[in-house]
Amino acid sequence: MARLELDGLTKVFEGDSGPIVAVEELDLDINDGEFVVVVGPSGCGKSTTLRTVAGLESATDGEMRIGGEVINNKAPRDRDIAMVFQSYALYPHKTVAENMGYGLHLSTDHTDEEIEKRVEEAATMMGIEDLLDKKPGSLSGGQQQRVATGRAIVREPSVFLFDEPLSNLDAKLRKHMRTELARLHTELNITTMYVTHDQEEAMTMADRIVVLNDGRLQQAGTPKQVYYEPVNLFVADFIGSPSMNIFDVTLRRDSDGGAELVNESFTYAISERVTNNFDAADGDEFILGIRPESLHPADETTPVKKTVRGRVDVVEVVGSDNFIYLDIDGKECRVRTRSAVEPEIDTTFDFTFEEEDIHLFDADTEEALAHGTKSPEPADQGVEEAAVGD
Ligand code: ATP
Repeated sequence: MARLELDGLTKVFEGDSGPIVAVEELDLDINDGEFVVVVGPSGCGKSTTLRTVAGLESATDGEMRIGGEVINNKAPRDRDIAMVFQSYALYPHKTVAENMGYGLHLSTDHTDEEIEKRVEEAATMMGIEDLLDKKPGSLSGGQQQRVATGRAIVREPSVFLFDEPLSNLDAKLRKHMRTELARLHTELNITTMYVTHDQEEAMTMADRIVVLNDGRLQQAGTPKQVYYEPVNLFVADFIGSPSMNIFDVTLRRDSDGGAELVNESFTYAISERVTNNFDAADGDEFILGIRPESLHPADETTPVKKTVRGRVDVVEVVGSDNFIYLDIDGKECRVRTRSAVEPEIDTTFDFTFEEEDIHLFDADTEEALAHGTKSPEPADQGVEEAAVGD
């Protein structure tokens, strides 16, 4: 076990039409035994980060350390890392046991007996002890995934790197393997960096989620922090499904100290508890964010200046919840409600939200200014003491 530190890690590829900055000055400390999941849109540099740590790509700049020791110039096999790939990368002509033990034969001077013992232990841990004599071609996707993970365990590395290890599996098996990997992590407690584009995987497995965009770190925080206290509009929009609703609004002050967020479709009255948290002058522009589950139907007690009216476009029934897609003057708004709320298509739908659920972002920088108070954890970076509501 060891701490993995990235200090200004930068990776530039020479592309056909000039340099491509895949990872830019990435600073990240992964604590001993921590499970960090890296997410971000396609091409944001997730795999490149992992491959550079593994030594499959060389760093253009910056320093990488494991257990305090610089690994930049070490050969991959000397980095004390084991990587699990999306493709599993098993040798088709070797048996499961040979696949699992091969790395140890190559890179250590363990005896055959020692290697066999380790392979058997790892196979038991992964529940594949009956498959040791089989060839990968005769195994299911889930079994191959277990072999690939077992092969990584056999090495007893300081750091595990996983590159989308479950994305070739069907949804049900993916969920099952997710639980297994989480259990394995609890058992082994090995420092882990895990890349995925599956948000559910990230939210359920991670101690901390790292969000990248365009090769740059956006936020590193617990699943709750990135969900409830995104540091900027990019993270707010990227994390959560359906994604956060975003509205351009202008702040209007009234004579008795109150204020309203106004756009062409609605006016939403806010109290000083919100506006006291940041510089908010009459006429200032902001971006208002509200998660779909924070919207609920308005009723006769809802003040007009807390009500937003939309037209029902689509109602998606997803079991316990309904997703209602509204059209608000040509803009889509997503509402997640109980399944009992099932409005007719093309009817008007009035909804509201609580002040404590709103997120406000600077209209120019898109940095977060204030969040609701739903998060049970304090913000880790960017947003300081900017809670809204009680
Ligand atoms: P995905 O989720 O689609 O796998 P990713 O976040 O893992 O994407 P990377 O594969 O790390 O993204 O790619 C980051 C950027 O670097 C992309 O613009 C990609 O085209 C570029 N890139 C990656 N590998 C190379 C390479 N060998 N040569 C040139 N450019 C590369």
